[in-house]
Amino acid sequence: MQQRIVGLVGGMSWESSAHYYRLINEHVRDALGGMHSARLLLWSFDFAAIEALQRTADWQEATRRMIDAARRLEAAGATCIVICTNTMHRMAEDVQDAIGIPLLHIADPTAAAAQASGLKQVGLLGTAFTMEQAFYTGRLQDRHGLQVLVPGEEDRAEVHRIIYEELVQGRVLPASQAFYREVMQRLVDRGAQAVILGCTEIMMLVGPDDASVPLLDTTALHARAAAQHLLGDGTALPVR
Ligand code: GLU
Repeated sequence: MQQRIVGLVGGMSWESSAHYYRLINEHVRDALGGMHSARLLLWSFDFAAIEALQRTADWQEATRRMIDAARRLEAAGATCIVICTNTMHRMAEDVQDAIGIPLLHIADPTAAAAQASGLKQVGLLGTAFTMEQAFYTGRLQDRHGLQVLVPGEEDRAEVHRIIYEELVQGRVLPASQAFYREVMQRLVDRGAQAVILGCTEIMMLVGPDDASVPLLDTTALHARAAAQHLLGDGTALPVR
């Protein structure tokens, strides 16, 4: 069978893009066996430039660059686009409007996993942009009917700081892991039935043993959706 081709918009950060690359290849190997591997294209940004646009709220230029990347991947033969970060789904609809191939939105397989487990109320960890702006929580709530709890203000600031000052730079510190555990427990105490790891590097810091409820790892769920696209929509794959 001929696989489709996934265009990855990555480098945000490269730490998580490397996980996407491995996970998608592992799914394809497991599904097809032998020496099979995934047909992928990768556009990898210099994250320092993207982070500066985020910090200065230059979303117009950030959107322009995301569209440019997606168009390059489409021109190179991609049959769908996967943006390898939650935060940069802020402009997902603009990117989708600018290309002629589907964009696999990271929130959709995440919400589907929550619904498959019968969950109604979920906690969300991510960058301040993801936790505070409507593009992400709004999609989970309006399109998928999930109630979303985010941490309190001080917790959000520290969750955000750890992502940018540590995780995207490949630094995984025990003190930060302990802090994330506490924040997740506070979400559970408020009624979260699961916690969405809504930043693609968070799974480097915490895993299933760090919380008393299931964790929805957006990197794994999004990578699985990408592999399903490659293999044809009917192929069911386990989440790693
Ligand atoms: N990878 C992170 C996310 O999923 C943060 C980096 C970024 O701002 O793109 O949101």
